[in-house]
Amino acid sequence: MSKYNPKDIQILAQKVVEIVTATPEKGQHIGEIEQAMRELFQEVGQRSLQMLLEAKGQAQKRTLACECGGTLHYVAQRPATVITVFGRVRYKRAYYSGCGCGKGKAPLDDEYRLKPGAVTIGLANLLSLAGIQFSFEESCAWLKEFLLFEVSENTVRQETERMGELMTKMEAAWIAQSQREDWLQMRQGQNEPVPETLYCAIDAAKVRTEPRAKAGQPKEPHEDWRDVKCLVWFEAEEVPLALQTGRDRSKTARQEVPRRAVRKEYACAITDTTQFGELLWATGCQRQADRCARLVFLGDGAPWIWNLVQTHFPHAIQIVDWYHAEEHLENVARAAFATDVRQQETWLKNAKQALWEGRVEDVIRACQALADDCEEAAKNVSYFSNHAERMRYDRFRQQGLVISSGVIESGCKQIVTQRLKLPGAQWLVDGAIYTAKARAAWLSGRWQTLCKQRAALPLAI
Ligand SMILES: [Zn+2]
Repeated sequence: MSKYNPKDIQILAQKVVEIVTATPEKGQHIGEIEQAMRELFQEVGQRSLQMLLEAKGQAQKRTLACECGGTLHYVAQRPATVITVFGRVRYKRAYYSGCGCGKGKAPLDDEYRLKPGAVTIGLANLLSLAGIQFSFEESCAWLKEFLLFEVSENTVRQETERMGELMTKMEAAWIAQSQREDWLQMRQGQNEPVPETLYCAIDAAKVRTEPRAKAGQPKEPHEDWRDVKCLVWFEAEEVPLALQTGRDRSKTARQEVPRRAVRKEYACAITDTTQFGELLWATGCQRQADRCARLVFLGDGAPWIWNLVQTHFPHAIQIVDWYHAEEHLENVARAAFATDVRQQETWLKNAKQALWEGRVEDVIRACQALADDCEEAAKNVSYFSNHAERMRYDRFRQQGLVISSGVIESGCKQIVTQRLKLPGAQWLVDGAIYTAKARAAWLSGRWQTLCKQRAALPLAI
């Protein structure tokens, strides 16, 4: 089971018991004992790391070759501090300087990718993981319970945003790739699995950002609302009977197979539609969207969404998310029969039934009948007319397609609302988008990939 020699563990454990029981005031009940042990392990961790770094940081040579081609000379064992998962660790390591170029070098720091004063990669992972879940302020309080030491709000922010920056770089590489004809062609010969039916849902949510202060100028007092555009690629599978919820069972009752979204991959950006289109195409190519047999887009009525789909995936099936369409009917019913609840319910029931059966023309007629006295109804005559072909729910259901994703709604909520709209949240555009992208990476199961990339990158990312 253990990665380590049981005898070694035994020796260490005996010592731990000895130390903890030697301070009886810390061993009143199990919680205190646990806490005392955690504090002890932490100190041992710090000391062990220090010992290890100092042993490896001994000067090996009097001189070293400098990057510039010159020569560096050994100066002394110089101290440095890094912030690790055990807390601050101060260590001494060989330091070289004296080259004509003026640069200095600590070979140990390069070897272990340590940056004096900064956090290690191990800690950066944990900090950013907190930073995508909670406000940076709350992250600090939360992390303190887990780590047993304090980290500044700014550090959590920096590390979280750095994850988003990495995700941005990964996306930029995908975008470049997806615009190369040879790469697109090359995939045809490969045996990568192509899903039979692939879905994509697109939506946007608003985030409040502060205008960026120009150098030397005071910040302008007004605030901006920016659109965070979100997309999620997913496949659908039937919900196993044992996992079906009440809502699923009501779907079964009306002859809809309850399906759930699987292999969800999110992307988001605060950009114009054209650039978002590049991201849509690039992330789609990663999922073989251009090669699968059936490609389905779900969205609300926003024209920019359908224009993008038309541009990049003209052969895809377009569906107005059932819940959005349903919402529109509810708005009409409420506006037209504000005082008569029974009439409201009857109208809504009939209209929903017609929509469910794909009789969009009946829905349009029902709205038209109310349009003279009700602005909401008049507005929705054009809404249902414009999207009639995207609401043939009878046909979509026959084809076994998901019509009521809820996926991107919850995706937008998860990426934007739950994190970016926390009380008191104030964002610069970059901070908002990097945090959102880091969060999207986590929700897409891409966190470990990002961590590995981060560990492999040179320090100055
Ligand atoms: Zn040099």
